[in-house]
Amino acid sequence: MPVQVICTTLLIEKSPQALPLGAACVASAIRHSPDLKGQCQVSLKAFCLEDKDFPKDKEKAADYIAEKLLKTTDGAENAIFCFSCFVWNIKILAGAAKLLREKGYVCIAGGPEITAHPSFYKDFDYTVSGEGEVSVPKLVNEILSKKSEKSDNVIISPSPDLAVIHSPYLDGIIDPAEYEGALWELARGCPFKCAYCYESKGEKTVRLFPMERIKAELELFAKKKIPQVFVLDPTYNINKKRAVELLRLIAQKTPDTFYYFEARAELMDRELAREFTRIPCALQIGLQSANEQTLKLVNRPFDKKKFCKGLSILNEEGVTFGLDLIFGLPGESFGSFRDGIDFAISQYPNNLEIFCLSVLPGTDLYDRADSLGLIYESQPPYHVIKTKEFTEEDMKRADKLSKACSYFYNAGRAVPWFNSVCRVLKLKPSKLFELFYNDYSEKCENFCSNFACDSHEEIQKIQLEFLQKQFKIKNLMRYYSAAEDIIKFYGAISRTTDTGKAETLSLNYDAEYVASDYASDIRYFTENLRPKKNRIQTYINKGQVDFKKI
Ligand code: SF4
Repeated sequence: MPVQVICTTLLIEKSPQALPLGAACVASAIRHSPDLKGQCQVSLKAFCLEDKDFPKDKEKAADYIAEKLLKTTDGAENAIFCFSCFVWNIKILAGAAKLLREKGYVCIAGGPEITAHPSFYKDFDYTVSGEGEVSVPKLVNEILSKKSEKSDNVIISPSPDLAVIHSPYLDGIIDPAEYEGALWELARGCPFKCAYCYESKGEKTVRLFPMERIKAELELFAKKKIPQVFVLDPTYNINKKRAVELLRLIAQKTPDTFYYFEARAELMDRELAREFTRIPCALQIGLQSANEQTLKLVNRPFDKKKFCKGLSILNEEGVTFGLDLIFGLPGESFGSFRDGIDFAISQYPNNLEIFCLSVLPGTDLYDRADSLGLIYESQPPYHVIKTKEFTEEDMKRADKLSKACSYFYNAGRAVPWFNSVCRVLKLKPSKLFELFYNDYSEKCENFCSNFACDSHEEIQKIQLEFLQKQFKIKNLMRYYSAAEDIIKFYGAISRTTDTGKAETLSLNYDAEYVASDYASDIRYFTENLRPKKNRIQTYINKGQVDFKKI
């Protein structure tokens, strides 16, 4: 009777981004291991905080997972459980492993949190640091052959040869259709060594998955009509030739799938930007800080001129991109962090994601944290509490700006008009976020990142209510009608793009002008155009959103 091996993890949400790829890769390696043929039956079992019956009380989560895992074994006495651990699930999974071990089952743990400090967690029989495709099947074989006593409890796994490992999508371990999307590994490793990242230590190498595998996975995504794919390659455009080749392949095989890429702005050129425009996609670009001294301290090369040039090419070509910022970095004061927000918004990103720095064990930053004056949580998620330059109060203020930005700018889809509104109000973006948080703290705090809390229409109503108050305070109400038109117009355009549904709206100024470049200067617009009441309808015309007067 083959022994059951169950690869498991706990997900934050059921989405393509949270898909249990690590556990699936290990399951796939076990399934294809020649040494384990006929000896074991491997399966993947992922839990999710959003599961209907998942306990709300975190204390009960470990019992719940252990109980469910036991059920999957059908009462077998000698199953093996392989846990894929991250900062957000380690406590619960370690608790579940402890319960299973009390019943005599073998528990193996891997994943980023274990890789960072494999000797730290004692609730598992074995911990595997690094990519698990080589070591875990070998370990399972040793356990089944009763040679496990020879194995150390802490195993440092060698990196697998990406040319030979199997794809969990192609062998059916995981079905991307179930998650309505896929995480798509094109490469492992990174040519950079940002101090806060797991890639900060070791070799600066990038290993590429072979083209045959990539093409076969693309065929599968096409066959299954996968709606969205998150590309796992931290610097997609480091090799322009390969990036272009892949984009052309994507355009040919999956023209209707939406792709998310991570890219370096400094390496962007017009030819590559144009290739991005040929597929539905968005790019996410790490800025992290606009303070060059801070970026030096975290070993992040930054060429501001090239960065801005890359982003302006993306804007000119119409490629959607978002930016990332981090607060709590060494050498960053609250003032320079705010400058970072203002700089980022001035580049017209579609979204700006602002995160708190985590000092992750196993990173270069973790080793240097004391000398850099970083005080951080000793438990996951290891968030910075304060730094030499950033007080605890500053951390709270930064968190508020992050939440205000998520609500007002990102979910509010404010990119087409936000800078124009800031200019006419003579407010810096960070100041506007601060004022918004002060008035709508509850909205910002309760906002769900999956946009389930407020619809865009509701958010737009709040944006207008807040801005009307600001225009009044500044005695600038004469400019408000134009601002209102621009916000309503682009709001309707974005909703029609999203849903395909037509919308009608009344405007104070002629829609042709509202839609033109004139509208980017609200002061000039108001002072040079006469109001003209008109009604328009947004609609989809040959796949593109358009509007007409009615
Ligand atoms: S943060 Fe991104 S770019 Fe920097 S080392 Fe990590 S993966 Fe590479």
